Amino acid sequence: MPKARETLLEIDLNALDNNYKYLTSKIKPGTKVLGVVKAFGYGSDSVVIAKELVELGVDYFAVAYANEGETLRNAKIETPILVLHTLPVNFEVIVNRCLEPSIYSQKTLLEFIAFAEEKKQTNYPIHLKFNTGLNRLGFVAGDVSFIVETLSKTQSVKVKSVFSHLGASEDLKEKEFTLGQIEGFRKISEQLIAKLGYKPLLHCANTSGIINYPEAHFDMVRTGIGLYGFGNDPEENKHLKPVGTLKTVISQIHTVQKSESVGYNRGFIAEETTRSATLPIGHADGIPRSYGKGKGWVTINGKKAPILGNVCMDMIMVDVTNIECEEGDEAIVFGPSATADELSAAINSISYELITAVSQRVKRSVLRK
Ligand SMILES: *Cc1c(COP(=O)(O)O)cnc(C)c1O
Repeated sequence: MPKARETLLEIDLNALDNNYKYLTSKIKPGTKVLGVVKAFGYGSDSVVIAKELVELGVDYFAVAYANEGETLRNAKIETPILVLHTLPVNFEVIVNRCLEPSIYSQKTLLEFIAFAEEKKQTNYPIHLKFNTGLNRLGFVAGDVSFIVETLSKTQSVKVKSVFSHLGASEDLKEKEFTLGQIEGFRKISEQLIAKLGYKPLLHCANTSGIINYPEAHFDMVRTGIGLYGFGNDPEENKHLKPVGTLKTVISQIHTVQKSESVGYNRGFIAEETTRSATLPIGHADGIPRSYGKGKGWVTINGKKAPILGNVCMDMIMVDVTNIECEEGDEAIVFGPSATADELSAAINSISYELITAVSQRVKRSVLRK
């Protein structure tokens, strides 16, 4: 890769291939793979990621919201797409673009059936989401009779899958809780299948579920963060490669004298002569203000340069007093050697939040084989 001359998010498809192969080596042959490409492919580029996953043989995609699925359809991606968070206002887009809704409540079931009937659909694929402990979205076990009775009165929809979501699959201290979720899911799906008379796909494992709970793989696994290179565990991270590298460039270097300040609200006051480098990346690009005042850093010529003072909308200033560098040199925010895991931990956050925050202003460049 040539050195960055502006702020860039590099998307390394070799890393994606590696991660896909590693994660699928953990599942039994025949288990389907759903690639989660919500939130612009975890902050990268959902179309680029999805097209590569199609090449790799992925079976399904999931997005959070219908418009994210529309983006994939506009890019001629024909793989089935599960919309995880269905809202009635999006039914039209869902059906027009052959997206498949997650149905998570009596209300969404009745409303979607009414919509599908009005649109003269038969056997439109729907996915029933059960809450087994996360208490976020989902039917509860007591809804099974209602669901079966409601479905028996219509030909408009057909249950393509039944699923749940683990709340703490990365945290082995919560093993008992997670095993309880898996068992609860197993029981609910058995009851449902007995009454439905056919067997939809069952799935409940996210990336950490794939890694830590083979008993949760069922017919399909859903992987997001692992595809992008993070396994929520230092041992797993050794096998995974970060897909995204966020880099930028030094626009200007200043020498700041003792007692002079840097940035808005005089967020940094020099106690001694300080060399500061200004970079064209700020909170509007995805560097939260909480990284200011030395909490966050970038890597320049292999060394950590802490952020001086407050993060501005379009810029940060970093301390390069002890780093040999000049205007035009590259600065890495996160990537394979300066990881999003490490940087996000500095503000008690997680890789998910940092990588999905890279804003749409930042140019993407794709690194292929
Ligand atoms: C985001 C999401 C996933 C992906 O989880 P990862 O931890 O990124 O693998 C899977 N299932 C559901 C329901 C999700 O919302």
